[in-house]
This record gives sequence, C-alpha cells and structure tokens, in this order.
Amino acid sequence: MTKRASIASLIPASQDIYRKIVFEIADGIIGIDDHGIIRLCNPATESIFGWQSGELLDKPLEVLLPERVHGFHQKLVASFQSGNTEARYMGQRSTTIVGRRLDGVEINLGITILRTSAAGEPMMVAVIRDISDHVRYQNDLKRLAETDSLSGLLNRRAFRANVLQSAGANVANHSSMVIFDLDGFKGVNDRFGHDAGDEVITCFSEVLRSSIRASDIAGRWGGEEFVLFLPNLKSGQAMAIVERIRANFSSVDFNWEGHPCANFTVSAGLAMAEPGRADFQDMIASADKALYDAKRGGRDRLVAVEMQQQALAS
Ligand code: GH3
Ligand code: MG
Ligand code: MG
Repeated sequence: MTKRASIASLIPASQDIYRKIVFEIADGIIGIDDHGIIRLCNPATESIFGWQSGELLDKPLEVLLPERVHGFHQKLVASFQSGNTEARYMGQRSTTIVGRRLDGVEINLGITILRTSAAGEPMMVAVIRDISDHVRYQNDLKRLAETDSLSGLLNRRAFRANVLQSAGANVANHSSMVIFDLDGFKGVNDRFGHDAGDEVITCFSEVLRSSIRASDIAGRWGGEEFVLFLPNLKSGQAMAIVERIRANFSSVDFNWEGHPCANFTVSAGLAMAEPGRADFQDMIASADKALYDAKRGGRDRLVAVEMQQQALAS
C-alpha cells in the first residue's frame, strides 16, 4: 500500500483523528470569521502567543498583532469578505509575518492561510508556526557575513551594497564618499606590536561610528583603510564631519606599557557627487585620488574634491 493510499484509508475512520491533530500539533491553528473575530483556536496557538486556555476565543485577531500591522490585516479581512464564500482552498502563502505575544514580545511567524466555511459561515483558517529562532539565526548569519570582525564595521562587499541602496534612495541630493588611511601605520606595528596596531584600528572604528549620523554608512575597506558614505550633505557639512573624526581620533591617548603616551593621525580623501551622479566606482576612485594627494601633501589632513575633480580644500 502506498503512503497516500494508507492515509486516505484512515480519514473516514474517525473524526477523533482530526481532533487529535488539532490538539496535539505544535503548529497553531486559528480560524477567524469575516469580522476578524477568533472562532477557532488550538492549544498551540495559545502557547505560541502566551494566552491561557480559551482566552482567545471571541477576541479580534488584532490582539495577536502589533499595532503597526493592523491596517494590513484589516485589508486582508476585507478582501476575504469580498471574495467567494464557498468552501475552497485559497492556496499557500508562506511568508514571515510579525505577531505579538500577550507579554508584548514580538515573534516571527510562518503562516499558511486557507479559506473555508463552518456552519455555512465563511472562515479564514491560518496555520501558524513560531519561526523566531530561525529568523534570529538567519539574521545572525547575515550580520556575520556583512561585518568585519576586528572593527565591527561593514566589510567591503556589504559597504558597497548599502551605499548603492542609499544612493538610489537619495538621488535628489549631494552625497560624499570618504576614504581614510591611518598615517604611518606600519610604524605602529613595528614599534608597539601587532596587537597595539589592532587596538588602534578598533579605536578609529569607534571614533568613526560615534561621529556619524544614522543615515551615514561606514565600512572597513581593508587593512587600516576605512570608507564613509555621507548622503544628503553639502560639501562643507561633509568636510566638517570628516574634520571632526580626524580631530577626535588624533586626541586619543594610547598608553602601552613601556612606552610613552602615543597619538596617531589619519589622512582622508573626500569626493562629492552632484545630485543623481553618485556612481560608486567613480566616487571611490576620486576619493582615493584625493587621499593620495593628502598623503603627498604631508599626511594628517583632508583633501576634498568635487567629482569634476576641482579641489575644494586641502
Ligand atoms: P601611510 O601614512 O602612507 O599610510 O603609511 P602606512 O605605514 O600606514 O602605510 P600602509 O598604508 O602601506 O601600511 C599599512 C599597514 O597596515 C601594513 C600592514 O602591516 C598593516 N595592517 C593591515 N591590516 C592590519 C590589521 O588588521 N592589523 C594590524 N595590526 N596591522 C594591519
Ligand atoms: Mg594603507
Ligand atoms: Mg596608512
């Protein structure tokens, strides 16, 4: 006997099988009427959302959703109401939806929805799985793949992806690309050791992170080189941010055993693009050229250029 045939032969045997499945299954099963009121709910649903037995019945489904998705949910119910009320399978919609437990904690849900009817009344039934652990694990993996482990900043690939997204969303305004390169860094490793060098890299990363706006994007380009994308700023404002970063970094005192207090400097190249002209490669190339000029000019300075290669300041 095939598996399909063996299941089919069990179905007429007893309604108890269905009842047992609904009661024992770890997935939540919940049914709402066309007013969005919960009419059916198994123990797993109560456990997933942290409610006591029987408490969810006759409550609006909204009690299981964060307020920000109430509008979306109401639209869903409205489309349900306007549809064909005959019992029929609506298809599967496996997606991640956010729910809210009774204690206020938000959880990620995988949901399959089907439409049916009970006692002649239309009913929307959802099979719900708490996939919060899975989503958290996925997010951790994504963060690991995007982050440079020493500095905690975005790595080169993730920096590029984030900048492309930001530049696409901010085409109407000026934006700037900055490359920083720590001055005389080979000497830091040689004089104080590689661990001390790592400490300086970490310190610069913290200065960078704490000196920028939430919409700015910072990354580690490699070695002791860092990149910063500043959307929606005129060149003067962008230059002021970079100068603040440089000043904050050079004022940090490094005290390593057996050595006098040390301070370090950083050079920066800044390229500013006209609105809608923020081509990633071009901006990096222009900022890199400006950085080269800053090094050649004596280090510990910023050189800024407009994308037409006109020097603004040095
Ligand atoms: P300049 O002022 O011209 O930039 O001089 P510099 O000595 O900084 O020259 P350069 O940029 O070529 O030196 C980079 C050095 O950074 C070489 C490498 O040993 C060191 N470095 C790269 N990555 C790391 C790291 O992760 N940790 C440590 N400690 N050192 C690193
Ligand atoms: Mg370098
Ligand atoms: Mg250097």
